[in-house]
Amino acid sequence: MPISVAIVGSGPSGFYTAEALAKAEADCLIDIIERLPAPHGLIRYGVAPDHQTTKKVSRNFDKTAGHESVRYFGNIEVGRDISVEELRSIYDAVVFAIGAPFDRKLGIPGEDKDGVIGSAAFVGWYNGHPDFVDLAPNLDTPNVCVVGNGNVAIDIARVLVKTRSEMASSDIPEYALGAIERSAVRDVHMLGRRGPIEAKFTNVELREMAELEACAPVIDAAILPDGVPEESEMSDRDRRLRERNLATLRAFAERDPDAMPKRVHFQFFAAPVEILGGDRVEGLRLERTEVVDGRAVGSGAFFEIETGLVIPAIGYRSHGLAGLPFDEAGGIVISDDGRIDDGLYCVGWVKRGPTGVIGTNRPDGQAAARQIVEDHPRGGKPGREALIEMLGDRGARMVSYQDWQTLDAHEQAQAGDAAPRRKLVTVEEMLGVLDG
Ligand SMILES: Cc1cc2nc3c(=O)[nH]c(=O)nc-3n(C[C@H](O)[C@H](O)[C@H](O)COP(=O)(O)OP(=O)(O)OC[C@H]3O[C@@H](n4cnc5c(N)ncnc54)[C@H](O)[C@@H]3O)c2cc1C
Repeated sequence: MPISVAIVGSGPSGFYTAEALAKAEADCLIDIIERLPAPHGLIRYGVAPDHQTTKKVSRNFDKTAGHESVRYFGNIEVGRDISVEELRSIYDAVVFAIGAPFDRKLGIPGEDKDGVIGSAAFVGWYNGHPDFVDLAPNLDTPNVCVVGNGNVAIDIARVLVKTRSEMASSDIPEYALGAIERSAVRDVHMLGRRGPIEAKFTNVELREMAELEACAPVIDAAILPDGVPEESEMSDRDRRLRERNLATLRAFAERDPDAMPKRVHFQFFAAPVEILGGDRVEGLRLERTEVVDGRAVGSGAFFEIETGLVIPAIGYRSHGLAGLPFDEAGGIVISDDGRIDDGLYCVGWVKRGPTGVIGTNRPDGQAAARQIVEDHPRGGKPGREALIEMLGDRGARMVSYQDWQTLDAHEQAQAGDAAPRRKLVTVEEMLGVLDG
């Protein structure tokens, strides 16, 4: 009897696990269960819409989905349509690949005001994620504050200032593109508690900020160090990246900020301390910092930025599902290198936290496949057959991978000239297309 495996989540970590199991020596039957009709997790809903080359990675997953032992069950949410315990009772192994979909909080007063929108929601909005289509962020504000100094923060800043023609070959939904085009946004402030050396941007993303049609990157040259201090403890690779980032930022400092209608301000050594306003955000109060032993220390000097939109982009956390042990502080499921309990495993961001690139999830999938085959030399539980029966009894609407390919082809057929696709942005729309 094959080893029956359920993988919950169809992002990179889920697909890499399926791929490794499909290639394993052992006989496995693999079911991927995904809460949305569309697969691929953050590749579809996180990676920026103007980074289509990165999004193409998901094409590799089509091959895995087409493997004879793999089946996709889209539009099925664990915790809503079926419980962890039920899955456990019918599968030899259940792998959680559910990602880390919630924002880490700033932890400052005023964070619950209208107009504070975490990066998960904001990025979901401009990527057409069904959960965030109705977000309606307040873009009627000349200044936007993006808190964070990583690639997600830079993606958000860039999408906010790009023109319609620059986005023509992206798959940003029209509602988001139109809102950004009509918006009052002129100055995006990217705020980092620490300095340019500590910033986590990759150099390719940083350099893109110098190539924008209608926006200039702005930085105060006086805050840029001559180089990475010799005593800094970091690998040669990290040192080279930081040196490259410094060189890029120095080139930004030579630009005329008034030459373009929009600007992205790289503001370092600035820690948010309070979100100002009544029910709605009216400003952000920050404290100037200095970096001591790699940590930001407040200087006692404060300043304010008038803004109607604050977007914290300082990292993500996962969520617990009933039946899974959860580390509240770390925001991940508790496991011993991916083994949660007998028959339960985790991979990707829910296992390691929100770090690394798409490919970083591959070794997780390979490790989980090894663990499963090691722990379950033989299968015993009914798996797929029982899942289909349970979901059928509940009247759940399952979306197959073939259905997804129908949606994919429909989206591509609906696209404008240069755009790769026009996304279907609600579950109802997607099911409507499938139902003809
Ligand atoms: C904004 C952003 C931009 C990024 N850009 C890049 C980039 O340009 N290049 C790059 O290499 N990396 C990028 N990354 C990182 C990359 O996206 C992650 O490394 C990767 O997606 C993590 O994979 P995952 O499978 O753990 O989680 P996810 O991709 O989040 O997948 C989790 C899946 O689980 C599903 N799910 C959740 N709960 C349930 C449930 N209860 N039942 C069923 N299904 C469920 C979700 O719907 C989702 O499809 C980016 C990340 C973010 C946040």
